[in-house]
Amino acid sequence: MSSPVRVRFAPSPTGNLHVGGARTALFNWLFARHHGGVFILRIEDTDLERSQEAYTRAILDGLRWLGLDWDEGPEVGGPHGPYFQTQREGLYREAVERLLREGKLYHCFCTAETLETMRQDQAERKVAIKYDGRCRALGRAEVERRIATGEKFVLRLRCPEGESVEWEDLTKGRLSFTSDLLDDLVVVKSDGMPTYNFAVVVDDVGMKITHVIRGEDHISNTPKQILLYRAMEAPLPRFAHIPMILGKDRARLSKRHGATSVIEYEKMGFDPEAFRNYLALLGWAPEDHTQELLSREELFARFTLDRVSSHGAIFDLDKLTWMNAEYIKRFSPATLLARLRPWLAQIPGFPGGFDDAALAKMAGLYRERVKTYNEILTMADWFFIEPATFDAKGLEKAAKIGGARALLAKLIDRLQTAGEFTEGPLEGLVRSFAEAEGRKFGDVVHLCRLGLSGRTATPGLFEVMAVLGRERTLARLGRFLTSCPA
Ligand code: GLU
Repeated sequence: MSSPVRVRFAPSPTGNLHVGGARTALFNWLFARHHGGVFILRIEDTDLERSQEAYTRAILDGLRWLGLDWDEGPEVGGPHGPYFQTQREGLYREAVERLLREGKLYHCFCTAETLETMRQDQAERKVAIKYDGRCRALGRAEVERRIATGEKFVLRLRCPEGESVEWEDLTKGRLSFTSDLLDDLVVVKSDGMPTYNFAVVVDDVGMKITHVIRGEDHISNTPKQILLYRAMEAPLPRFAHIPMILGKDRARLSKRHGATSVIEYEKMGFDPEAFRNYLALLGWAPEDHTQELLSREELFARFTLDRVSSHGAIFDLDKLTWMNAEYIKRFSPATLLARLRPWLAQIPGFPGGFDDAALAKMAGLYRERVKTYNEILTMADWFFIEPATFDAKGLEKAAKIGGARALLAKLIDRLQTAGEFTEGPLEGLVRSFAEAEGRKFGDVVHLCRLGLSGRTATPGLFEVMAVLGRERTLARLGRFLTSCPA
């Protein structure tokens, strides 16, 4: 590629980071990293009514959560700033002045009512609905007089007639429009603010963007923007319009399908790397598409736009959950503990006197059991909060054992003198104890598990005992004696 790749993610801070936005950011980031290029973050906050600082923060946080680092943009700066559109007014003004000087823009004084009447009339006559260009020919003197009287105006681009506007889209192939269907685009609104299409082009030119990678919902903007590039005599970037993210019913992903903002997935306990991996596969696949678990480096190496699909990609929560579980299974106990810690910290009583080695061991017990981090809250809380009640069915089962309490008391005695308090020896001890007592091994295990956790299902009992340690194990079993059926 001749000039160094420069791409951007340009969110409007009018909401939290959406799954679709995150995927657009990800594709830009991967493309930049694949080519050793530059990934720019630009905040498009010209819609003053809907933009909020808190959303900018949320977008930055969301991108950071996903591990997407930007080379130029808010909080990191760069040579083509500022990176907030509201701070770039001077640049838009300069561009407007130049285009005005070159006669490429004109003042339009048409009021909202005039435009409405025009539309109705066109609709009745069944002709294309667009601005009819009636202010194009106003003379300079008239324009100046009307401005002086305080009449409101917008600035429009003179749209050429009969020109074809086409481009080779890197994901959609050749796309072509005729300029006849395009309006004389408003470039500056009556409040003096640049329009979206104009600001984007001024910024993309100013920031030397080489590839515009964005959602296909922007395809209709692209011909308008191309006319602006032509007016500004600026080189065209390449465009790649990526497919929309759809729900299972193939309608565009919306609240109706479930969570749509990235932060909600963080709150549901998804791992950022797994989530990023899943997002990467929404509309893209590596050549060997049987490999779905892809590290950051593998994604960098393999991401190319020619492997982006031109069809919508279906967001499948089950698949995402599966992938998350696959990531969790592959973490070392120490890594898993690091990821789980913010969740564990929500459990009252955490860390409950456990040191990091014991906590890592405990985390390891859940590697194959939790699919999302939030599950740990209800699955492992009993490590930190000694059970005060015991599962009713578990107690019923204990009652059927017969002489459970005496049996347990004997086991407690036996455990007091146990040598090493680790899985292997503990299992050996319980097995020989059950045999010597003429009891079923499973019954003894059941009693212990119920006493230690209050539950009938936990990770392997002997691993649990090893994590709890001798003191806690004996104390819990001792206290269970009063609730244990006799
Ligand atoms: N600010 C636009 C949006 O939020 C994106 C503009 C672009 O990518 O060209 O959809």
